[in-house]
Amino acid sequence: MIPISSAAVTARIAAELPTYRWITKFSRGRWLVRIWEWGDCRSYDYTGDTEARALKAAFDATLAFERARQRRLACPYCKGLGWYIVTGGDKEMCRHPQVAA
Ligand SMILES: [Zn+2]
Repeated sequence: MIPISSAAVTARIAAELPTYRWITKFSRGRWLVRIWEWGDCRSYDYTGDTEARALKAAFDATLAFERARQRRLACPYCKGLGWYIVTGGDKEMCRHPQVAA
């Protein structure tokens, strides 16, 4: 297993998730990473037995979350909203069907 360093992971967060901020702290025998998007009112916590592993968990999960959000925003039906109005005025929840390229 290749060891990971906190500096390497924070460099990747800064490069690939530039709108995110984070703090790390050691609490109750575990490293905690609190990560949030700049201007947002919520944050997400990740833990690990080392600072680097907690940062890696935060980075992996946040990157997956961001990619899923980008896919939703690219949805041609709802543009990421999650619903649309159908003929007759009813609200339909969108399942974000993938469009063949
Ligand atoms: Zn959609």
